[in-house]
Amino acid sequence: METRILGTTEIDIKEAAQILLEGGLVAFPTETVYGLGANAMNDEAVSKVYKAKGRPSDNPMIVHIADSSQLIELTDKVTGDMKKLMDAFWPGPVTMVVPAKPEVPRVTTGGLDTVAVRMPDNEATLALIAKAGIPLAGPSANLSGHPSPTTASHVDDDLHGRIEAIIQGEPCKVGIESTVVDMTSETPMILRPGIVTKEQLSQVLGKEVGIDPAVLQRPDIYNNGGLLETDENFKPKSPGMKYKHYAPKAEMIIFEGEPEKVRLAMAEEKMNRVECGQTVGILLYDNENPEEAAHDFFAQLRAFDKKGVDVILAAALKEDGVGFAVMNRMFKSAGYNIREIE
Ligand code: AMP
Ligand code: MG
Repeated sequence: METRILGTTEIDIKEAAQILLEGGLVAFPTETVYGLGANAMNDEAVSKVYKAKGRPSDNPMIVHIADSSQLIELTDKVTGDMKKLMDAFWPGPVTMVVPAKPEVPRVTTGGLDTVAVRMPDNEATLALIAKAGIPLAGPSANLSGHPSPTTASHVDDDLHGRIEAIIQGEPCKVGIESTVVDMTSETPMILRPGIVTKEQLSQVLGKEVGIDPAVLQRPDIYNNGGLLETDENFKPKSPGMKYKHYAPKAEMIIFEGEPEKVRLAMAEEKMNRVECGQTVGILLYDNENPEEAAHDFFAQLRAFDKKGVDVILAAALKEDGVGFAVMNRMFKSAGYNIREIE
């Protein structure tokens, strides 16, 4: 299949909407990362998304809407808490998991009776959803397991020939995926951390927000299928948590400890590796500016892959606020290959 690169003019958007209405796949820009769009209400179209990405079929999609009124196509339970989050953060990088109407295809929800919904903050994509007049299923537009795409060319690198079109939009401002919050229980629970933090959510809701225990796990190994090697009782609320994710081609090591000692340990490891003829990529971010790390991280992993780097040495960031969300990605990218520096 020929993958067309479209722009954001009215004609381009009309064409992309047409492809979606015919059951095709269109990658779209958002403020977080690029999404791979299909008509969320069309089983066959959504099945193609899993196939194009090589994504396990029990890992559900986030459904993107352009207007709060579209929410009632997906759920009949819009609570006061949901309204508060919508008012405060939409359009923006917060995804709510809510009870799904029977009409929402279970292919879209990965077989669950809940559906994840958000309104992305990107003008072209909002216009596309409005034009097509459908909710848009959209996981990240990468091959399953690869770092998430933050430019149209990242999408093209992974999905060229596998999807009908890519809308080349403005670069992703945030750079990591949305905060996913489960709104189906009295205490909202974060299933995936993002740029909008637990503290910000708590403040808007005026109550405590929890973090799903699966987010905090540091498993040791992945088995051959890319599943986390854990006991059988590991059934995280967000099915995506089970899978290996965001991995660069290179080996990756995260150095954790006191910043000065970490820097020394990384320099020493670099020297050893270079002596062995390896090429080394270094990731050292400013703890005071985790937003910059979020913005840069996936793009940098892909740049290292392109260069053919053998090993990536990364300094851990402080795990609070946005740093917590960045470290969630970094640990997974490295397959939890962590070196504690005493
Ligand atoms: P991605 O589409 O790659 O951004 O990943 C979407 C994330 O949202 C995955 O980790 C999914 O497991 C999670 N997710 C989507 N729908 C649901 C749902 N209904 N319940 C819990 N988690 C969900
Ligand atoms: Mg993804």
